[in-house]
Amino acid sequence: MADATLLDLSPDALEARLAALGHPAYRARQIAVAVFRQLVSSYDEITTLPAELRHELAARLPFTPCEPMDSVQTADGATRKTLYRLQDGETIETVVMEYPDRFTVCVSSQVGCAVACPFCASGRGGWVRDLTPGEIVSQVLHAARAAAAVGRRLTNVVYMGMGEPLANYESVLASLRIENDPRALGLGARSFTLSTAGDAPGILRLAAEPLQVNLAVSLHAGDDALRSALIPLNRRYPLDELLRACHSYVEITHRRVTFEIALIDGMNDDRRCAAAVAARLRGLLCHVNLIPWNPIPQLEWRRSRAAAVEAYEKTLSDAGIPTTVRDSRGVEIEAGCGQLRARPATR
Ligand code: SF4
Repeated sequence: MADATLLDLSPDALEARLAALGHPAYRARQIAVAVFRQLVSSYDEITTLPAELRHELAARLPFTPCEPMDSVQTADGATRKTLYRLQDGETIETVVMEYPDRFTVCVSSQVGCAVACPFCASGRGGWVRDLTPGEIVSQVLHAARAAAAVGRRLTNVVYMGMGEPLANYESVLASLRIENDPRALGLGARSFTLSTAGDAPGILRLAAEPLQVNLAVSLHAGDDALRSALIPLNRRYPLDELLRACHSYVEITHRRVTFEIALIDGMNDDRRCAAAVAARLRGLLCHVNLIPWNPIPQLEWRRSRAAAVEAYEKTLSDAGIPTTVRDSRGVEIEAGCGQLRARPATR
């Protein structure tokens, strides 16, 4: 586990840490303004602090736990994936996506992933360790700086990169609170989306939080045999249990659940598959995103053909389930999670 860094601390925890070092509370506020509003990237840039305090903090509380080491972007520059090195030498990926109306970062929550979906490069090496809150906040701050560099503001944070966020519940929620805190990054709760492979107990736990974040569930199939083949976590939390948790989530939070379905040619994209999903979701406050699958070099699977996507969408829409077909951003840069990390650094 990495040492605690500045970005692991909530505003209150930072104040307490500084008090323990004999510094007044307003120093914590000066640091928070510099880090989260002015988006400085080192103590040296916090000119409101005396040089002595900057040196003391640099020695006692490292500024950031993540350093960028490689990145690739699409030809139009609208999607960029960055590989970060952590203090212990492990690596993670973060993807930034610019849209006309929003600026989104997709963050990792673990090094590797224990879920081991066969189509995912992150799952191939297995789970290595959970990320700390600071390692997650650091990815978001890098994205906020990238947005500021082009005159934009970061608007959305999706926990959909490497790892299963609900399996690293404490750190993910701690990072979210820092990103949401008006004294820190101050992003509205609805700017956040937590994406799970189907951790039913985690969904119930999240439902009890007083946080209005969005929940996305990777569904991919409406029958247990196929879904277990695509998402091995389904063997532990089969569809009945997962959807019971989703119904409870909606009852408790009054918020809809978003289901993500990656469509793979000849695998899960025929009318029978669509009908099975429709039967499962009928009556649930939800929205479905259909995403033609992001091919990866290690697998011969192909993305669904346009006609199959269209027919799938029609089956769900006819069943009264709000459905949107999404583009899979960044196919040309292998933006599917874990794919940059899995290859040797190129720059
Ligand atoms: S798709 Fe998500 S849950 Fe599945 S192995 Fe990859 S990171 Fe883990």
